Amino acid sequence: MRGLAERLRWQQALGYPELRLKGEFFAGPAAGLRRQEAAIAGCTRCKLSKGRTTIVFGSGDPGARLVFIGEGPGEEEDRQGKPFVGRAGQKLTEMLAAVGITRDEVYICNIVKCRPPGNRNPEPDEIAACAPFLAGQLAAIRPGLIGALGTFAAQHLLRTREPISRLRGRIHPYPDVPGLIVIPTFHPAFILRNPGIEYKKQAFEDLKLIRREYDRARGVGAG
Ligand code: URA
Repeated sequence: MRGLAERLRWQQALGYPELRLKGEFFAGPAAGLRRQEAAIAGCTRCKLSKGRTTIVFGSGDPGARLVFIGEGPGEEEDRQGKPFVGRAGQKLTEMLAAVGITRDEVYICNIVKCRPPGNRNPEPDEIAACAPFLAGQLAAIRPGLIGALGTFAAQHLLRTREPISRLRGRIHPYPDVPGLIVIPTFHPAFILRNPGIEYKKQAFEDLKLIRREYDRARGVGAG
């Protein structure tokens, strides 16, 4: 019953005007994600479809309490069809390992699912075209918290223009879903481009905060 109540709250928060009691409603997160991924195969909703090789939907545990969201696939991701598998992905794996989190236990995806040409920032029409897919993923997974990777993801998720230096290291409510929180940190590619210790230290602090809230979301350590 608790799962059902949570799912109903999610549907309400996402603005569904009525209950959709089709099979998928009861199917669980893995089946929900599989259905969504199948549904976006061959998507041509925006101009990014013209240059992509593969749609990079997302990967990880469909039942994860913690979801990491980046900007959009890069070259390697476009080739392999998986998020964060290039150099930035290796860095992300290291950053998670530093606080004892493995990629398998979280879910990882991006704001846009197709590679922007030359790794430019996604444009507003592309973000808008892809937004229902991210909303659908979050509705299926129902995480307790989101780790926002980098300026673009953090600003987009929190609907702000504040710089990442001010957004990071703090807990923000996710505007679309009551109770869901967002903790921004630097994008792993930014850490790679800035090898000094200062940003690394800050990212480590952010990851420790994410770890703490992740444990709280799973009830770890609760009496
Ligand atoms: N950068 C991103 O934001 N996402 C990826 O999947 C890879 C690199």
